[in-house]
Amino acid sequence: MTCPYCAEKIKDEAIKCKHCGEYLDIELRESRSFANNYSEPKIKKWNPGIAALLSLVIPGAGQMYKGNVLRGFMWLFIVMFSYGYLGIPGLILHIICIITATSGNPYE
Ligand SMILES: [Zn+2]
Repeated sequence: MTCPYCAEKIKDEAIKCKHCGEYLDIELRESRSFANNYSEPKIKKWNPGIAALLSLVIPGAGQMYKGNVLRGFMWLFIVMFSYGYLGIPGLILHIICIITATSGNPYE
């Protein structure tokens, strides 16, 4: 028989063409393309850059953007409190807040 994909001569009982590598069995072709789709890299759910920028403008907003709403409010409260009562340590906490906003796995 000839391969329907590359027209090269192949054995009748072949399930995969040795010339072009295509599967001749439709089910095998579909399961292979399904496996390919499945192994594609996951889409990022959040962007660390955006998370950092949000926490820079509003402390904790980056954490909220990532879905950690409670943690975001906690950061907002801590950073605002530190700015208001302690001054410089507030800035340090704000920087830590920005750094933690970028941490974590964006693909989860
Ligand atoms: Zn072929």
